Amino acid sequence: MINREMTEKGQNSSVIRELFEFGKQRKAVVGEDKVFDFSIGNPSVPCPAEITQCMSRLLEESDPVALHGYTSAAGDLNVRQAIASYMNEKYGLGAEAADIYMTAGAAASLTISLKSVACAGEEVIVFTPYFPEYKVFIENCGATAVEVPVAREDFQIDFEALNAAFSAKTAALIVNSPNNPTGAVLTAKTLKKLADFLRGKEKEYGREIYLISDEPYRELVYDGLALALPAQYYEDTLICYSYSKSLSLPGERIGYIMVNPKAHSRKLLFDTICGSGRSLGFVCAPSLLQQVVGQNQGLTSDIAAYEENRKLIYSMITDCGFEAIRPDGAFYLFVKAPSGDGNEFSERAKKYELLIVPSDSFGMEGYVRISYCVSKKQIEASAGAFRALAQSYGLQK
Ligand code: PLP
Repeated sequence: MINREMTEKGQNSSVIRELFEFGKQRKAVVGEDKVFDFSIGNPSVPCPAEITQCMSRLLEESDPVALHGYTSAAGDLNVRQAIASYMNEKYGLGAEAADIYMTAGAAASLTISLKSVACAGEEVIVFTPYFPEYKVFIENCGATAVEVPVAREDFQIDFEALNAAFSAKTAALIVNSPNNPTGAVLTAKTLKKLADFLRGKEKEYGREIYLISDEPYRELVYDGLALALPAQYYEDTLICYSYSKSLSLPGERIGYIMVNPKAHSRKLLFDTICGSGRSLGFVCAPSLLQQVVGQNQGLTSDIAAYEENRKLIYSMITDCGFEAIRPDGAFYLFVKAPSGDGNEFSERAKKYELLIVPSDSFGMEGYVRISYCVSKKQIEASAGAFRALAQSYGLQK
């Protein structure tokens, strides 16, 4: 019999995808440059030239049988060693190749991690607003997503709300800093407090509680901010990384999971990740891409372009009279709906050919998300449309 639960997930595509498709249709009617699509988080800067050159070199110079052959299920040992060395140098984690499992991007990293630490009937805490796929991945383990709103003043963790949501069934939490959709970055102070809180809960419930740190935007931080890494504060952390955004390679599907070497059940946890990868069919991440990222640790695409876009769009939007959170990272701007209704805001914006995503799809009402991973030209050209939209709310004279 067909699995109707999966049919339902397949047929109800995300609001973001719907807007993206709508944008394509509108472009065909009114013209490419007349539609301002801020819906999707697809990197707008190309991958670095070093990546293309490295790929060409590998293709030309390597033994094709070895290059395109299976690696071990967890990934090529040298690649995992290169990642461990880089992470140790940058964040002082003390990792080894044996802590790293190569994956087909953050989506696979998250799915495998959740399968490893959340069992049927358990709960996983997510902080709203959050990347909508978390819920799908959590439910795939038979677990339930428990939503905890972040503090509205600074988009850090609301510890009172977190404590109230915690139960004996809580197996894990997901944090995402820099954040999609708000652009907020968790401070060292917040992470220290979170680590103390979770250690207390581990003691109280006599079990390990896992922090899944979803980090595809790790390098995308602005104003010279030094990012605090959850694994630097809390032992039982799983890092879920992806090169989709940092190297502009989302279609190539490459990333990894790193078990924090300080995790209480380090080896057991890694073996469990291998088992989940096996069970889900996520073994041997794309082989060519493993080599490419292994040889280019620390390299990023031109992040300065996003920082410039952020400056431009933030001042443009706030000059129009809209209220927005000033993002410290990622490439999203979270804007308050003047009417208090994010869906209405997104619908009204469509009349001005502006495609912006209502926040309801991220588990929080009353906002929209603007993805500013677009060309500078698009941001500049959209100024008139945003002004007209603001005027329609009486925000501008
Ligand atoms: N996590 C967050 C917060 C994201 O925004 C995304 C993609 O946009 C992902 C995970 C999935 O990333 P990947 O392309 O590496 O699967």
